[in-house]
Amino acid sequence: MVPLPVLPPVNSAHRRTLAPIATPDRLLLGPGPSNAHPTVLQALARMPIGHLDPLYVELMSEVQELLRYAWQTDNRLTIPMSGTGSAAMEASLANTIEPGDTVLVAVKGYFGLRLADMAGRYRANVVTIEKPWGEAFSLAELENAVATHRPKILAIVHAETSTGICQPMEGIGDLCRQHDCLLLLDTVTSLGAVPLYLDEWKVDLAYSCSQKGLSCPPGLGPFTMGPRAEAKMMARAGKVPNWYLDVTLLNQYWGSDRVYHHTAPVNMNFGMREALRLLAEEGLEAAWARHRSNSELLWAGLEALGLELHAPAALRLPTLTTVRIPAGVDGKAFSQHLLTKHGIEVGGGLGALAGKVWRIGLMGYNSQPENVDLLLNLFETELP
Ligand code: PLP
Repeated sequence: MVPLPVLPPVNSAHRRTLAPIATPDRLLLGPGPSNAHPTVLQALARMPIGHLDPLYVELMSEVQELLRYAWQTDNRLTIPMSGTGSAAMEASLANTIEPGDTVLVAVKGYFGLRLADMAGRYRANVVTIEKPWGEAFSLAELENAVATHRPKILAIVHAETSTGICQPMEGIGDLCRQHDCLLLLDTVTSLGAVPLYLDEWKVDLAYSCSQKGLSCPPGLGPFTMGPRAEAKMMARAGKVPNWYLDVTLLNQYWGSDRVYHHTAPVNMNFGMREALRLLAEEGLEAAWARHRSNSELLWAGLEALGLELHAPAALRLPTLTTVRIPAGVDGKAFSQHLLTKHGIEVGGGLGALAGKVWRIGLMGYNSQPENVDLLLNLFETELP
């Protein structure tokens, strides 16, 4: 018998004896994550299978096809990135920016600033135009900026989670085509919940997340790339400067070859398949209408209580409502009260709106009239 090696003593300084995990039941009515659908949770709890198993390969195609439906696109390169929405955001920039490219970011909230920050890290010449937090860009403003700066990419957020504003899309795609510029759209807070027509809008690159309109936990970042963006990626002089998010490599796994790139988070994709299956079963039109009608209930109820909504009615997002905190009310204390006393999460303001608004999310599974009634009742009876 070979003698066992003598191991040095193990340092137990960081060893802890913990009870099995117990998480509280929360109703997540903030900016995300939203509660996951119960059957999505069941799908996540299944035993993993191999990421090259023929059954998994079939599931990959199903997820890709249903993402195309959710986005209304025929883009071949439509995949769930392993990572959250920010990973998919990063993929959209990392694959298409070449050093020195001008990237125009239309900033009207926190996530526009993130896009500008990321684009700079890929050595783009980043130019920003800005609107106050609570407004959207007009086509004329975008036209003027594109004509002036001649960017290779125009990046804009469709559903700004920090402000509750939905950017009107009419004409932006045509404008980008006229100026030979790619259109990149953040759809993190719109996919599955707010009308999106990527191909009709001539969007070249888009990304989203799993944890909002799709009723899945956070962990995947749906990503899609159209032929014009793919052509720019394929013509680049050097490698994509991010190995993990390199779509030229990922395409070998998600395309017809199904060659290993990284070990896919298979259970997250089980959940994603179930979330997309539920969306297709409900139908996009019905899901969009449900989000719209529940948010209208919320808006009317809040206004009936004398509260002021931050976003103008015409630009309001059905997924995320910004409510102005009334003078004299400690907004943070009230959200804390909702969480500790009732297990309900609502969000606070970000950046320019910090301390000024609450952010109420009605996304995916949580967009239900009972949730609206519950919250309105608490605002009515417990707001100091
Ligand atoms: N873009 C928008 C509009 C968002 O709301 C978020 C997150 O809430 C992100 C990007 C980043 O997504 P994630 O937090 O999933 O990385």
